[in-house]
Amino acid sequence: MKKITIAIDGHSSCGKSTMAKDLAREVGYIYIDSGAMYRCCTLFAMEQGLVNADGTIQADVLERRMQEIQVSFRLNPETGRPDAYLNGKNVEKLIRTMEVSSHVSPVAALPFVRAAMTAQQQAMGREGGIVMDGRDIGTAVFPDAELKIFVTASDEIRAQRRYDELVAKGETCDFQQILENLRERDHIDSTRSVAPLRQAEDALVLDNSHMTIPEQKQWLLERFKERTLSPASPLQGKE
Ligand code: C5P
Repeated sequence: MKKITIAIDGHSSCGKSTMAKDLAREVGYIYIDSGAMYRCCTLFAMEQGLVNADGTIQADVLERRMQEIQVSFRLNPETGRPDAYLNGKNVEKLIRTMEVSSHVSPVAALPFVRAAMTAQQQAMGREGGIVMDGRDIGTAVFPDAELKIFVTASDEIRAQRRYDELVAKGETCDFQQILENLRERDHIDSTRSVAPLRQAEDALVLDNSHMTIPEQKQWLLERFKERTLSPASPLQGKE
């Protein structure tokens, strides 16, 4: 059976990656977290002192040094999920901190950063058999993806999920700060000039505000089966 390309886009912290990872594992596809790639670029900029105290980025220096950024993924045998590596170092934990979250959207809005990451993502997905989640996968990275999903949920529910996730990892965090961060990221992501976050016309919309993780997983698996078993059949979105 031909392996398809699956693009899962949507707002920050709406559970896209959990759904995408679970589906990839279930159907034996490769999973790529494109947000982790932008987070790695941000971590690099922070570590190299290219993020100023006021949050602005030294874009000209970063642009010259883009070729020093190598992002890769390797399966973590303990979690069964891929960890992100920046220049050969496992940075999976470092890229998930609030500090990286607060700088990532301005970095991801830089056209040369997007061009570099998009080229890498397209190379990773050339053969199909990939589930990639992000903001612009169905619109800019793989506009011809056979299955496109756009996920959303209410701001408060998304912030609560993120808060619970960080607390479970033992991080001290503030709900209000998380809520503001995700609203700000959504705003920057949706209004940037290159590849802004928006729903592809042919994407199925999933509002998962009131769905459990197993329900989302089931919903996505059904869409996958519809698409791969009878590609011509119309797909139904969930309101
Ligand atoms: O998915 P995640 O929240 O980890 O992504 C972090 C940030 O990376 C987003 O807020 C967005 O600014 C950026 N991003 C992007 N395009 C993607 C994936 C993520 O601009 N395809």
